[in-house]
Amino acid sequence: MKKLIVANLKMNPQTFTEADRLARAASSAARKVKNVEVVFCPPFVWLECLAAEYGKKAIFGGQDAFWEERGAYTGEISPVMLKNIGARYVIIGHSERRIHLGETDEMINKKIKAALGAGLKVILCVGETLKEHRAGRTKFVLARQLRKDLKSVSKLNIYNSKLVIAYEPIWAIGTGLAETPMSAGYMADFIRRVSGARRVIYGGSVSAKNIKGFLSRREIDGALVGGASLDAGEFSKIIKIAAYV
Ligand code: PEP
Repeated sequence: MKKLIVANLKMNPQTFTEADRLARAASSAARKVKNVEVVFCPPFVWLECLAAEYGKKAIFGGQDAFWEERGAYTGEISPVMLKNIGARYVIIGHSERRIHLGETDEMINKKIKAALGAGLKVILCVGETLKEHRAGRTKFVLARQLRKDLKSVSKLNIYNSKLVIAYEPIWAIGTGLAETPMSAGYMADFIRRVSGARRVIYGGSVSAKNIKGFLSRREIDGALVGGASLDAGEFSKIIKIAAYV
């Protein structure tokens, strides 16, 4: 299976010119490697133009999607809309949405089902807080999130790789304090056994310096990259290294 490298740009950059520069660099790096699937997830406002321009070289994804297909839901974007503008993946349940927007496991569960139903592949984010980590509750938290987030999600979708799970310890996101490859691998293995997912990736302060360590673990199939995806050179390096691990 190809390694999966996902760029989550979050609420960046501020202009289309800059988003275009980052997407061009990522798609050019993606075109040079055969065994890495590169998914670029910019803010919604840039997604359609970038997917039209670079969609043959890289794959595009949304950073979220609502659970309904259409209707009176001001500000929301439906999975069908994402699919119609060329997205193939969508990130669901990112910890920043759980924390800042109050997304619950029940909402995430509805979003996953709607996105899969629309034919998108889902990257579900799960992970523990620092307090939970220090209390040794990581496995308990992951098992609870997976049980609720994947409630009555078709097993077929899970087994046939339509669902990717990103293990993202919250304390490692944007802090520069990445989990160790060994512990991340151990949790990725746990996630795979609990959920049945075939593809489990790691996210949390991934950089060109540490990517090799994560991808060298047989349990880890790729990475979800936040901050480092905003540096065109760094992200291209990550893709290049992923191709040789
Ligand atoms: C993320 O946005 O999911 C993430 C892992 O961010 P960062 O790489 O900046 O820690």
